[in-house]
Amino acid sequence: MRIPLGIRKLIGYWTNWYYPATGTCGHCDRNWRVAQEHLTLFLHGHSCFPLCEMCWNDLSIAERLPHYKSLYNRWVSMSEDHNGVPWPEVWKGMEKAVRDGL
Ligand SMILES: [Zn+2]
Repeated sequence: MRIPLGIRKLIGYWTNWYYPATGTCGHCDRNWRVAQEHLTLFLHGHSCFPLCEMCWNDLSIAERLPHYKSLYNRWVSMSEDHNGVPWPEVWKGMEKAVRDGL
């Protein structure tokens, strides 16, 4: 069942109050306890999920990309590399995966 974005954002508001330590969708802000992540595989053996399935389906590739960039920027601020993979290579892989519709 598809939930309208406004309702998803309300669900996000309340569930994040209830589960403050869990990650959220970058678009509707619903908590991963109540939203299904859209898993994007990139490079070999790496994955990320900045969006839930519903938001991922709602957004165009160009609209998805900033959410991936935002997650990437957060990762960059937290460590020197991504499990040994240099950051520019990580972004190249993520961007390609998003542009390929993954
Ligand atoms: Zn979402």
